[in-house]
Amino acid sequence: MEKNDILFETALEQFDTVAEILQLEDEIRERMRFPKRSLIVSVPVRLDNGTVKVFRGYRVQHDITLGPSKGGIRYHPNVDLNEVSALAMLMTWKCALMHMPYGGAKGGVQCNPEEMSQNELERMTRRYTTEIVQIIGPDRDIPAPDLYTNSQTMAWMMDTYSVQQGNTVPGVVTGKPLLLGGSLGRAEGTGRGVAYMVIEAARVLYKELRGLRVAIQGMGNVGSVATRLLYDQGCNIVAVSDVSGGAYNPKGILVPYLMHHIKEHKHVVGLREADAITNEELFELDCDVIIPAAIEGQITETNADKVRAKIIVEGANGPTTPEADKILFDKKVFLVPDILANAGGVTVSYFEWVQDIQYYFWSEEDIQKKLKDVMVGTFNRVLALSNKQGVDLRTAALMLGIGRVADAKKLRGLYLNGIMDFHGSAAQ
Ligand code: NAD
Repeated sequence: MEKNDILFETALEQFDTVAEILQLEDEIRERMRFPKRSLIVSVPVRLDNGTVKVFRGYRVQHDITLGPSKGGIRYHPNVDLNEVSALAMLMTWKCALMHMPYGGAKGGVQCNPEEMSQNELERMTRRYTTEIVQIIGPDRDIPAPDLYTNSQTMAWMMDTYSVQQGNTVPGVVTGKPLLLGGSLGRAEGTGRGVAYMVIEAARVLYKELRGLRVAIQGMGNVGSVATRLLYDQGCNIVAVSDVSGGAYNPKGILVPYLMHHIKEHKHVVGLREADAITNEELFELDCDVIIPAAIEGQITETNADKVRAKIIVEGANGPTTPEADKILFDKKVFLVPDILANAGGVTVSYFEWVQDIQYYFWSEEDIQKKLKDVMVGTFNRVLALSNKQGVDLRTAALMLGIGRVADAKKLRGLYLNGIMDFHGSAAQ
């Protein structure tokens, strides 16, 4: 099976396991297993060399029971229907877990953004937005940044959508630049949420945060913010990595210097006063906390046994396979799962959307306080359920998210079903 087929199968397996624990009715399970709507589009783009390349784009809306769907857009060579469908499903559980009035969605374009110019990326973004324009909107489906997309990508999406509507619609995407209706605190929302989860996990396991040895994979939006905030809190950042490779210094990496290095050289590789390590080696280091904040499938049955950290906080979506989950649970590793750990992004996205709809903007202090309340409150609910049921934190988080969507589906009932029955029986 291909990697993304496995990702989708895993999402279904996780759902089935939790549906069984929750004893959901079969008809509710069937309705929750598959996406509500999936769109595959061709995205023709004129490249800088004058030729036209046709990319494949996707948008999957897994569920809209609790409100409009919400989820990121990624640009990556691995994007396909199965990947996007799996991630859309996870978004549904995540939004429900965080008590957001949203369903889940995900989208992306299969491309290699590292090889594309800004102009090419802009043309691709505008054409992709146009191709999915009928199914997005502030009351329908609200995209946000994800892998290799950022606030500029969202600005282009918002502009393209608004031009086609004939008026400015800031609420169609979140993660926009501040000037265009973005929210204070959004750019760092996911990384800040990850840092809160490390702090809470440390409180449960170690009591003391200062000096905790932390290794982080991924120095993008999520990883770099978590790194900076945890460094500021007194953690010892012993290793970092990105697609170029990693850097390790058991005495601690000087994070302001690391950020300067990344700004200059784009990547971690070549960082001075640190040993070069591979991404694989990062997961086996002698440290207290690992934050996978890059891509899926990084902790597997091959390396889970070699993990020495006692805490894993999943900044990335799907970095741990189910086989690795079992191994880590047996090793008593405290693993804060993706749908909770990286939910700071969708939480501040929700704040941004609310502000856009009201045209009334909050202070950064307000946003950080609200984010912390939501993240820590949810962490405590998940931890309490995990202790009560004797299940890992991932299962507990999924139980809360999936249970909430199932309850909402039951309350809403099934459209037309009753009417058909009524007509059917009236005819007899
Ligand atoms: P990003 O594009 O800003 O950064 C990605 C980082 O991962 C880069 O440092 C890149 O070099 C590194 N990377 C890519 N491929 C790699 C590989 N094969 N090995 C090691 N490192 C690799 O992306 P991001 O927004 O920081 O997202 C990272 C993860 O967090 C993704 O799984 C994403 O779905 C998840 N996430 C992001 C947000 C958000 O708000 N940005 C929210 C929730 C979840």
